Amino acid sequence: MLEDKDRIFKNLYNDFGVDATSSKNRGDWLDTKVLISKGREWIINEIKSSELRGRGGAGFPTGLKWSFAPKEVGSRPHYLVINADESEPGTCKDRDILRFEPHKLIEGCLIAAYAVQAHVCYIYIRGEYFNEGQILQEALNQAYKNKLIGKNSCDSGWDLDIFIHYGAGAYICGEETALLESLEGNKGQPRLKPPFPALVGLYGCPTIVNNVETIAVVPTILRKGSKWFTSIGKPKNTGTKIFCISGNVNHPCNVEEEMGISLKDLIETHAGGVIGGWDNLQAVIPGGSSMPLLPKNICETIKMDFDSLVENKSGLGTAGIVVINKDQDIIKCMARIARFYKHESCGQCTPCREGSGWMWRMLERMAKGEASREEVDMLMDVTKQIEGHTICAFGEGSAWPVQGLLRHFKKELIKRNNFNPLIKKNKNVPYLIDQHLLEEDNVKS
Ligand code: SF4
Repeated sequence: MLEDKDRIFKNLYNDFGVDATSSKNRGDWLDTKVLISKGREWIINEIKSSELRGRGGAGFPTGLKWSFAPKEVGSRPHYLVINADESEPGTCKDRDILRFEPHKLIEGCLIAAYAVQAHVCYIYIRGEYFNEGQILQEALNQAYKNKLIGKNSCDSGWDLDIFIHYGAGAYICGEETALLESLEGNKGQPRLKPPFPALVGLYGCPTIVNNVETIAVVPTILRKGSKWFTSIGKPKNTGTKIFCISGNVNHPCNVEEEMGISLKDLIETHAGGVIGGWDNLQAVIPGGSSMPLLPKNICETIKMDFDSLVENKSGLGTAGIVVINKDQDIIKCMARIARFYKHESCGQCTPCREGSGWMWRMLERMAKGEASREEVDMLMDVTKQIEGHTICAFGEGSAWPVQGLLRHFKKELIKRNNFNPLIKKNKNVPYLIDQHLLEEDNVKS
């Protein structure tokens, strides 16, 4: 369990105030000038040795990402872009940073911008976080007034301007290249990679895109040292992490804990346990809705870090933990998630555009017991046709939850759909579109 002295986010529940003075009292903006004076190479090396991995979902090493920015600024300026388009169902950690710890983010922006030689930083916030954006704007105004950012930020000699940009609510704009397209004023659709944004990003210029939580932890790592950060968690899965626990628990919450904490501890200690008791647990989605669910027997012992979850064919993702107890219909739950992905596909790639709707329609029928036994296997085929065949990782994000269901609850699917006289009579039914559901979806979208 994380000790209070190692907590990075001391105001996660807004007990101590959001303004610049309160933040300074908690240790923010302490010796920022000294940190910057150590030079960009020192900063990048320190972040590399801390083994900090991106907190937005993919878990890419942050120091390494920064080192991809060109060493010298050429004819094109460099940009830093903060991804605050937190849209993954089950995830609301960046929201609490934006509204309760905005100065941690702003200080992190200054240090990161200096490290990658950017004089301009954009914070892309999802449109629904309007109130959080207003709080962040107020914090930015205070930072400008106190000369923490702007010309000669913190007396460091580095100029930095930070702008907030509100998105319009599309999930896919959380994908970094779609985010850049949206920021440029275009339709938010992912770009083909390579080239990667570090070389060709915003307006065709070198751009580093980082998640809110990733940037917000940077100043503390530099102040306390990379050794301190690596002393928490385990190798390659270091430091602390904000976990969001929701679903069928007694006290849904956000909590900062050490990486590698056991899932059971998180749920029992911080979220008041599963509704109906631990034995009433059916499954847990460990990292936001795009990560495959884990059944109860794995949840008993699983550790919450990148590598342990991958070993169990799931992922830490955004660390949005969704608890599903035995009172829920697991097939219906997954059908609802599939419907979300069908709705959010940007439509550029055929496997994603068609496949996401196909999976959703099959799951809706399976939840009602109206599918055939053969369709259960066909569903896995569809997920495999999507996975790895698309421009961006949304394809995997839509296919993995369905694969998780098939991996762990196939018996349930077969039991419900094994003997369907309707299907036996009409072999074409599996391929028919459920018009009623389609109409319902169109009305709501
Ligand atoms: Fe768009 Fe889906 Fe292709 Fe991503 S995978 S680019 S969301 S169609």
